[in-house]
Amino acid sequence: MNILKIDHIGIAVKNLAESSKLYEMLGIKSAGVEEVAEQKVKVCFFPVGDSEIELLESTSPDGPIAKYIEKNGEGLQHLALRVDDLEAALIELKAKGVRLIDEKPRYGAGGAKIAFVHPKSTGGILLELSEKK
Ligand code: ZN
Repeated sequence: MNILKIDHIGIAVKNLAESSKLYEMLGIKSAGVEEVAEQKVKVCFFPVGDSEIELLESTSPDGPIAKYIEKNGEGLQHLALRVDDLEAALIELKAKGVRLIDEKPRYGAGGAKIAFVHPKSTGGILLELSEKK
């Protein structure tokens, strides 16, 4: 598998508009808000150099981000690595015995294909693999 870069760092927030203020104050221009219905989130990306900061707000009390905040509070939620071929990466990781949350790619914000690797296999970090064309 071929890791291209740190794609983004995901931060769970209670209120996207409120939390966006910090990054706007730092002079980072947001790429706009997008809702990803499948994951019950609204996200907002802030480009920083070659990577991005992703703020995630839950759109439902039973969504994964709402549950994360309930358990851990707001803050760093996942690290995303860009890969050139997500399906091949998932096959390779599975063959190496890595525990995957998603064995098949799913739809992510910005038209990316994404899949999550279980924190049990990564030393406690929720790892997202992302492929963008
Ligand atoms: Zn993400």
